[in-house]
Order: sequence, then structure tokens, then C-alpha cells
Amino acid sequence: TAKRNGRQRSVFYEAGLGDATPEKPDPAAELAAALDRGEFTVAYQPLVDLRAGRTIGAEALIRWQHPVDGNRPPDTFIPLAEETGLIMEIGEFVLRDACRQAVRWVQSSSSPADLLVTVNLSARQVTDPTTVETVQAALADTGLEPHRLTLEITETVLMQDRDAAAANLDRLKAVGVRIAIDDFGTGYSSLAYLSRFPLDMLKVAREFVDGLGRDDNADVVTRAIVELARALGLRTVAEGVETDEQHRQLAELGCDFAQGYLFSRPVDAETIMALVAGESAETHAATRVAGSPV
Ligand code: C2E
Ligand code: MG
Ligand code: MG
Ligand code: MG
Repeated sequence: TAKRNGRQRSVFYEAGLGDATPEKPDPAAELAAALDRGEFTVAYQPLVDLRAGRTIGAEALIRWQHPVDGNRPPDTFIPLAEETGLIMEIGEFVLRDACRQAVRWVQSSSSPADLLVTVNLSARQVTDPTTVETVQAALADTGLEPHRLTLEITETVLMQDRDAAAANLDRLKAVGVRIAIDDFGTGYSSLAYLSRFPLDMLKVAREFVDGLGRDDNADVVTRAIVELARALGLRTVAEGVETDEQHRQLAELGCDFAQGYLFSRPVDAETIMALVAGESAETHAATRVAGSPV
């Protein structure tokens, strides 16, 4: 991969060096250069334990602060990173940051027993055999206990290359990390995979949470997902919780965790540390106001 990136990077630098009419930089090269220049950071969105009413961890979300355009959302560059293979380096960067921060949260938490961090894995990371070593190295170098790391994978990714994905997930499970299905219910789902893959958690897609209390179908689907997860021994996270009504219904359904703008936008790692260090009642209130969104 050094060779591939080297080529991309030189294309970028040549375009910027003393060229009277520089061509628009190649987006793939621009992405590689952004990684070198440290333009990527990791934001963390609090994960709220609905029964305890407090933050018990966070999801790591990549951020690109472009020098000219400002914040570039992940949806605009993750697909390209995936296509070019740079996602392996970006993914490792996120993974290492997440592990390092989670260790600090554990140290400052008033009740660290259930503390966790989740990291999104792209398609290539799920099927590439080197991912297991990357995860192991990140855990070993930071000292994070494996059970505190949950890797988020979408259904679509799992279904793309089932055998490679299954083999990798088994190896990851053997390391001791946990696996979540992200955006559950929106992919090309086959319920068969729920028993085939070694899963720990289902994340109820925002689409369903969004319709709670307004759309009977969303109510029914959300309830069914939570009940299915419970029957399978999986924990549930509701994504994109924005209203008190959604929060109330999810708690009533017995959903374990929630994330969403109601509690907090993605924030910096320091803010998560303050949240997990706080007491339950204060934390809940604090979650809504703390930190500056990133
Ligand atoms: P995701 O993993 O499903 O992450 C949830 C997205 O929903 C995040 O967007 C988050 O900021 C947003 N969100 C959270 N709460 C709410 C809410 O209440 N309302 C609404 N409308 N949105 C909410 P973000 O950070 O822009 O990320 C978008 C997607 O990009 C992620 O979806 C994930 O698929 C991908 N992504 C982000 N970071 C990474 C990464 O490090 N690696 C990989 N492979 N993909 C990533
Ligand atoms: Mg996710
Ligand atoms: Mg999601
Ligand atoms: Mg998504």
C-alpha cells in the first residue's frame, strides 16, 4: 500500500508545485494528503444507557476539517476511501484514537463496568484479513480491554462477501471484541445472517426511530427489532433519537441504549470523558448542553 499511496501523493504534490495552471487535484490524492497533513479527527457521539440514564460510552465518527471547505461529512469521502483502499489507513487511525480515548474514559469513569466505544468498519476492513491484526495491535498498544470495543458493520457489507466476513468476524470475536449491526433494517437483510454471524448488538436505524409515534409501521418495526434482539440475546441501540417522545417510547420498549441529537451531537473526546465521570442525574442533563458539536 505504501507504493499505491506514494504514487497518489506524488500526483498531488506535482499538481501543486510551481505549475502555472495546476489541474484540480485528484480527489484520491487529496484524501491521502489530508491524512498526512492531519486533517482528520475523530468525534464521539454519546451512547446513553436508557435504564441508568447516563452516558456509558460513545461512537467514534471521523471528521475531515478541510483547510478551504471546512467540515467535509464522512458520506462525501468514505466511499472514495473505500474504493482507493485508503480506508485501511483511515480506519486504523480512527480505531487507534477510539481505543486510546476509551482507556482515558475508563480511568475517569465513576462506574466503568459497562463502558464501551464503538467504531464503524467499512466493507474492505470487514473482508481484509489484516484487520484482525490491526485491531489486536490497537488494543495491545493502548491497553484497552477487548470487550470494551464494539465494531459496527452494516448488513449490506456482511452480505457482500459472506464467507470472508464470517471468517473475519469469528477471528475478531476470538480476540474478544464485540460486533454490532449498524443501521439495522435498512440493508439488504436476510434474517439468516443473524444466527450465522457472531453478533452482540443491533443498532435500530434512524429511519424507524424517526417515525416513532407518527408512523404505525415504524412503531411496529421498532418493537419487532427490539423483541427479536432480546430473543437472540443481543443488545439494542436506537440511532437518531431527537425527541422526548421517541426517548420515552424506546425506554418503554426496553431498548438498551440510545444515541441522537436529543442527548448530544458528536463532540470531542474530552466532553465524553466529563460525561462518563459525572453522576447519573447530572450526566443526563449535561449530555444535552455539554461540549461544542464537532
Ligand atoms: P452511522 O455509523 O450510522 O453514524 C450515525 C450518523 O448519524 C452520524 O453521521 C451521526 O452524526 C448522525 N446522527 C447522530 N444522531 C443523529 C440525530 O439525532 N439525527 C440525525 N439526523 N443524525 C444523527 P456522520 O458522522 O455524518 O456519519 C455518517 C456515516 O459515515 C456513518 O453512519 C458511517 O456509516 C460513516 N462513518 C463515519 N465515521 C466513519 C469511520 O470512521 N469509518 C467508516 N468506515 N465509516 C464512518
Ligand atoms: Mg455507526
Ligand atoms: Mg448507523
Ligand atoms: Mg449510516
